[in-house]
Amino acid sequence: MHASEFFQESAIQNPWTEVDKADWNDWKWQLKNRITSLEQLEELLELSPDERAGCHFANKKLALAITPYFFNLINRADPKDPIRQQVIPRIQETQTHEEESIDPVGEEGSSPVEGIVHRYPDRVLFLVTDRCAAYCRYCTRSRLVSNAQAYNFHPKYEAGLEYIRANPQIRDVLLSGGDPLLLSNNKLDSLLSALREIKHVEFIRIGSRIPVFLPQRIDSELCAILKKHGPIWMSIHVNHPNECSAELKQACDHLAFAGVPLGNQSVLLKGINNQAEILKNLIHKLLLMRVRPYYLYQCDLINGSAHLRTDPREGIALIQALRGHTTGYAIPQFVIDAPGGGGKIPINPNYIESINEDAIVMKNYEGKRYSYPLNPQATTDLQLNCDPNTEDSDWIEPILA
Ligand code: SF4
Repeated sequence: MHASEFFQESAIQNPWTEVDKADWNDWKWQLKNRITSLEQLEELLELSPDERAGCHFANKKLALAITPYFFNLINRADPKDPIRQQVIPRIQETQTHEEESIDPVGEEGSSPVEGIVHRYPDRVLFLVTDRCAAYCRYCTRSRLVSNAQAYNFHPKYEAGLEYIRANPQIRDVLLSGGDPLLLSNNKLDSLLSALREIKHVEFIRIGSRIPVFLPQRIDSELCAILKKHGPIWMSIHVNHPNECSAELKQACDHLAFAGVPLGNQSVLLKGINNQAEILKNLIHKLLLMRVRPYYLYQCDLINGSAHLRTDPREGIALIQALRGHTTGYAIPQFVIDAPGGGGKIPINPNYIESINEDAIVMKNYEGKRYSYPLNPQATTDLQLNCDPNTEDSDWIEPILA
């Protein structure tokens, strides 16, 4: 079976059945015809009281916007549809819990210039826009994305570029926002040119959900720009197999053929993708689209996200249910972006039972025990940082002395 046979072109639902195919496939038409109001939603769906109330408040927190293409993927008969829950506001978003905050991963504290987050020495996050094609109701950056909260984020490219030029230790730049692929071709081209002119910038990445929300945007002009400045790596953001349409597959094909290596970052979301079978289906589809599952994020502690967050132990159990049970390439790294600004911390199931003087004792994916001998010579050069009193220590890290 050819890979493309696993992907269905979405059947266009009302009110778009009469739309000219050329318009439907035009990304500018898609943007112009986004669903942005409660009134529009009411015409398309029977909203629950929670959703209706959520829509009343949405534009004070994070704008409501959904492209017709992405909305069309919703099964309207299912109130718990996984796409619906990602983009239609609910009243729970307005309920803030003690552990939550407006800047849950502490980006503001690492921002030397507006739009630059410099947390790790050799790399920066460069926020180049506050706009997205559609808005995810759990967005970590909802303080600034869509400018609904009067944060007044106005990216200043020259100030960001100047900061990168002045800091020669920066070898890696991640363009994000908002969604960098919403910049015009001219703007994106000149931004990438300016970055490529900085000798110490080796590695350029783009974080984008455009292939998912607006795959029509991935056209030959855009791909030519990405190819010209390549290698440009890209992290896309797919959470559920229902997002893996023929249109997304085609967008990923275009990007891959333009030499863009693709990874995926999913967020673990309650009632949306927190089941092993759903995740397995998703990661298999990603591989067929040439996308390497990269991170599975524990949902950040953003204000009003409790209804979508899972317990972190669920993420560990899900990885355990996948590792060894499918292709290793397909397994994403489960991470928690540490609250307050500690960066991404990998969270793994514990496969190490113990490390004694002679051997490392491990469990495999079936729970069977194996041991592997240590190299007696190496023990003089390595200091093992582990707690010998904890048989099940999951914090075992060899450190070069
Ligand atoms: S696409 Fe990314 S930046 Fe935009 S709303 Fe979704 S999570 Fe936030």
